[in-house]
Amino acid sequence: MATFDQLSRPLRDLRVSVTDRCNFRCRYCMPREVFGREYRFLDRSEVLTYEEIERLVRIFVGLGVGKVRLTGGEPLIRRDLPVLVERLAAIDGLDDLTLTTNGVLLADRAAALEAAGLDRVTISLDSIEPASFRLISDSSIPVERVLEGIDAALAAGLAPVKVNVVLRRGINDDQILPMVRRFRGSGVVLRFIEYMDAGRSHGWELEQVVPAEEIIARIDQEFPLEAIEEPELGRVARRWRMKDGAGEVGVIASVSQPFCRGCTRARLSPEGRLYLCLFAGTGLDLRSPLRQGASDERLEALVRRCWAVRSDRYSELRSQDGGDEPRVEMSHIGG
Ligand code: SAM
Ligand code: SF4
Ligand code: SF4
Repeated sequence: MATFDQLSRPLRDLRVSVTDRCNFRCRYCMPREVFGREYRFLDRSEVLTYEEIERLVRIFVGLGVGKVRLTGGEPLIRRDLPVLVERLAAIDGLDDLTLTTNGVLLADRAAALEAAGLDRVTISLDSIEPASFRLISDSSIPVERVLEGIDAALAAGLAPVKVNVVLRRGINDDQILPMVRRFRGSGVVLRFIEYMDAGRSHGWELEQVVPAEEIIARIDQEFPLEAIEEPELGRVARRWRMKDGAGEVGVIASVSQPFCRGCTRARLSPEGRLYLCLFAGTGLDLRSPLRQGASDERLEALVRRCWAVRSDRYSELRSQDGGDEPRVEMSHIGG
């Protein structure tokens, strides 16, 4: 049964972050100064088990969720992820089960994930140029590993395979055209994302955002594009088709053209907190009632009530942010 919030937005999508840990230290997400040796990641006992995740996802599906995306931290470092995929894929009413990953471990796992029932995969890749890839991910893992992961996803049929690129001016905006050239005609859908002021652990500046309009104009000069029109509700990316038939590109203009009005997405953190917005400071604890023996009806009522009072639309109000409210980190709730 559909559940609506204060702005008449139905609850339709759920992002499930399965771990707060990652094998990268992307400077804009998990800077090493903050997420170093001293950082206290969640203990294993604090993180939801696969049984607990499955139970909660069933409840969300009962409330109208049809799409679930597994994320993290890096979801593929969680042991036996295909086991979770198999459990979730078996839920009646869940139409779309996807995964966002940095791709490092994907080459080995794509086939098993597909066999377990994963529908699609999105790989995050901010540069195909080895030196800048190393700088951005702050890791010695070569970019080839991610490219192999993308090939494995294509071979396994996890289609459409999407590649997300977060652009920052002066850091990787020189990658727009090389990436379009590399992936056009391959079946990969490239999506360029405006750098967001998510979390509080990095020094975001508006000047670093490359606006969607500029991204599209730069691509259009070399590869003429035409817009693909779509309804607004639940839409995140705006899509453009290459006129020569070599595929499409998308832009996620969270900063320059916010889409809160159509935002139908909730987020579940690794320790079972429900966040109603990417920029929320707090989340509703579902793990405590879950572990204290609450019935499905009770858990469902908690989620329904939480969504019913939701009025979040941070991106539309961005300029009013005082900068001192707490905010959940992107690496905790998975973007
Ligand atoms: N580790 C996985 C990955 O990188 O795909 C999943 C989690 S990661 C937090 C999910 C997405 O959030 C990635 O595509 C990443 O680039 C994006 N992201 C992280 N910080 C961001 C920011 N400040 N602005 C925009 N996107 C961001
Ligand atoms: Fe890890 Fe993904 Fe964040 Fe990079 S963006 S540090 S891969 S969670
Ligand atoms: Fe949704 Fe919050 Fe992002 Fe707006 S800012 S689109 S409400 S997650």
